[in-house]
Amino acid sequence: MTRLPRLDDNVQFLKGVGPRKGEILAKRGIETNLDLLYTIPRDYLDLRQVRPIAQMAEDEVQLLRGKIFWLDFRRTKTGMPLVEMQCTDGSGELTVQWFHRPDLRETLAIDQHVEITGKPKRVEGHWRMTNPKIRPWSGEDQTQGIVPIYAGSQEIRSEEIRSWVRQVLPLAGEVVSLLPDEYAQKKALVPLAQAFADLHEPADLSAASAARQRLAYEEIFQFAVASALKRSKRTRERGYAIDVSSEVDRRIRRLFPFSLTPSQDEVIQNIVGDFRSGHPMHRLIQGDVGSGKTAVAIYAILAVVAAGYQAAFMTPTEILARQQFRVLNDYLSRSRVRRQLLVGGLASADRQAILDPLYRGEIDLVVGTHALIQPDVHFARLGLVVIDEQHKFGVRQRAELLQQEVTPHQMVMTATPIPRSLAMTWFGDLDLTALRQGPEGRGKVLTHVVPAAKRDDVYQFLLRRARMGQQSLIVCARIEPTPKGQGGDDLRSAQEILAEVARHAGVDLPIGLVHGKMEDTDKDEAIRRFRRGDTLILVATVVIEVGLDVPNVSHVLIENADRFGLSQLHQIRGRVGRGTGEGNCFLLDYSDDPEGHQRLNDLASTIDGFEIAELDTRSRGAGDPLGERQHGVIRLRVGDFQTDSDLLAQCRKDAEELVAADPALRNPAWARFRRALLDRFAKYFGLALVG
Ligand code: ADP
Ligand code: MG
Repeated sequence: MTRLPRLDDNVQFLKGVGPRKGEILAKRGIETNLDLLYTIPRDYLDLRQVRPIAQMAEDEVQLLRGKIFWLDFRRTKTGMPLVEMQCTDGSGELTVQWFHRPDLRETLAIDQHVEITGKPKRVEGHWRMTNPKIRPWSGEDQTQGIVPIYAGSQEIRSEEIRSWVRQVLPLAGEVVSLLPDEYAQKKALVPLAQAFADLHEPADLSAASAARQRLAYEEIFQFAVASALKRSKRTRERGYAIDVSSEVDRRIRRLFPFSLTPSQDEVIQNIVGDFRSGHPMHRLIQGDVGSGKTAVAIYAILAVVAAGYQAAFMTPTEILARQQFRVLNDYLSRSRVRRQLLVGGLASADRQAILDPLYRGEIDLVVGTHALIQPDVHFARLGLVVIDEQHKFGVRQRAELLQQEVTPHQMVMTATPIPRSLAMTWFGDLDLTALRQGPEGRGKVLTHVVPAAKRDDVYQFLLRRARMGQQSLIVCARIEPTPKGQGGDDLRSAQEILAEVARHAGVDLPIGLVHGKMEDTDKDEAIRRFRRGDTLILVATVVIEVGLDVPNVSHVLIENADRFGLSQLHQIRGRVGRGTGEGNCFLLDYSDDPEGHQRLNDLASTIDGFEIAELDTRSRGAGDPLGERQHGVIRLRVGDFQTDSDLLAQCRKDAEELVAADPALRNPAWARFRRALLDRFAKYFGLALVG
C-alpha cells in the first residue's frame, strides 16, 4: 500500500529517487519534499515558442529542437578551438559553430537531440548560427508551455528533478506561510501555494518571477528582521559613554605627523558619535590597504584611553600583531599610552607580567592575536576592541572578547572592500563605514598585464632595479611544484621561482622566501631581512596578502595572476608604491580565454577597491570575495543578497517598521515567523533564543 507523500518525508521515497539519488540531493540541501518545493528553477524554457527550422526568421533569438547528424571538432588557423555541427528537425537543416567551447567535445554526439537558443543567419541559402546556447533534450519530452530548468548535474538531470517536483506539488497547499496572511496581503505578495505552483508550473514568465520574489521576500525578510532586532536590542544595550572634548581631539591630532584626510575625519566623526551615544559601537571600517585605517584606529584608541578605559587591538596572525604593534608604537611614541604585545608562546612568568597589570588597569593598550581571548585574560575596564582584518576571524571569536561586564565599543577593520550587499551578509550586525579616499602624495602604481611568454623580461627588469637598490616582491600561488601527473596544474611554485630568480641573479643578490608553511619565527626573520634591505627580492606565497607592511616595495610581480581573484590581486598590488616613488605591478597572465584577459585588464584600469570588488563578485557569480568560506556566513536558499539588492533594501525598510512597532516581536500573529527567524539567525546575530 502506498500512502500519499508528506511535506516532511524524505525525498528518497518519491518515485524515481531512491537512496542513491536521495543522498546526492541531500548534499545539495534537498532532504525533504518541502525542500524540493523550495528548489528554485535555474531558468525557464518557453516551449510555446519552439520553431520549426523551416520557419526561422533571420536575426531574431529563437528556440528550436533538432537531432545532430554531423559533427566536427578542429582548430582555426589561429589555433582557436572550433566545434561545428549540423542538425535537423525534419522541416529543415541548420549548421552551428562554436568558438572556444572545447567542453562541447565531451557533451555533443551524433544522433543526439538538442535544444538550441540563438539568432540564425541565412548564408548562401543555408541557415547558420554562431555560439548559440545549447542543451540536451531527451527527444521524447513533448512538454508544452513553459518548462522549468533545474540545476542538474552528471548524476541528476533537470528533467528528473522536474518529475519529482511534480509529485510533491499537490502538497504546496499544506506549506504554512511564515508571514501572517494579513501582512502578505498588505505587501501584495502572492499567496504561498500559488507561489509554488507558479514557480514550478508557470503560466507565463512574469508569474514565475513574482513567485520567486514571494519566496525570496519571506527569506530575506527574516534576515532583515533579525538584523533589525539586533540593532534595536543594541540601542537598549548600555555601553560606556565617552566624550571626546575638543581639547582631547587637539591633543590626539598633535600626535600625527600629518593632518587627517577628509575621509578619515568623516569616519572619526562617526566613531565619536558612537562613543558619545552611551551604547556600544559596532562598526565595520572598510578601506583599501594604505587608505589610513590604522590612523583612524589610533585616534579611537587615544580617545578611549584619554577617558580612562583600556583598548585591545586584535590581529589574525602573530606576524601581524608584531607588525601592528610596531606601527602603533611609532604613532604612540609621544603619548603616555602604556602598551603591551600579548602573543602566544610566552613563558608563563612573562605572560603573567602582562596579565596582572592588565587586570589592574595599568596597561592601556594590548595588541595581540587570539591570545587575547584566552580565559585567563581579564581587563579592568575594556572600553574598545579593534579588530584588524576581521574576515580571518570567526564571528564567534569576535564575540568572545566582547563578553565583558559592560560591552566595549567595537571597531572592525578590513582591507577587503566588499560590496555593500555582501558585507551585510558577513557583518550583518555591524554599521558600515567606508574609507574611500586614501592620503594623497603616495607613489603611483602602474599595472601591466604581461603575457606569460614575456616572463623573462619582467624578471630581468626586477633584477636591474634590484641592482639600483629597489625592492620587489614576487607573489605566487603555491609553495612546492605540483607533483608530475597530477592533472595539468601549471601553477608556478615559490620554489621554482626562487630557483629561477637565483640563477639569474647570481650570488651577489640575496633573495628571500616567505610562505605559509614556514614557522612564524622564520617568516618574521625573512620579513625583517627584507625590511632592512638585506634582501632586495622577496618571493612569497599569498601569506603576504594579509596586511603585511612591507614599506618601499617598488615593484610586485604576481605569477599566475589569472588564477587569483581580483580583490586579492588588488590587495597584493597595495603593497607597492607605499613610498613616494613610482611603482610597477606586473600581472603574469597564463590564461588563454578572452574573459580571463579582460578581467586582468579591468584590474589594470582602476585602483578603486570597491569597483574591483563589484567586478570580482560579478565575474565569479555569487562568489566569495574573501576567497574562503567561514562559518557565520549566511547562505540563502531562494534569495541572493547581490542580485536581490532591491528586495533587500525593501525588506530592510519593512523590517525597521515592523520592529519599531513591536520591538521584541511579541504579536502572536508573528509567533511562527519569529520562531523560524530565531532558528535560522539567532546564532549568527547573537540574539537570545528566549525573551
Ligand atoms: P591602512 O591601515 O588602511 O593600511 P595606514 O593607516 O597604515 O593605512 O596608512 C597607510 C600609510 O599612509 C601609512 O604610512 C600612514 O602613515 C600614512 N597615512 C595615514 N593617514 C595619513 C594622512 N592623513 N596623511 C598622510 N599620510 C597618512
Ligand atoms: Mg593597516
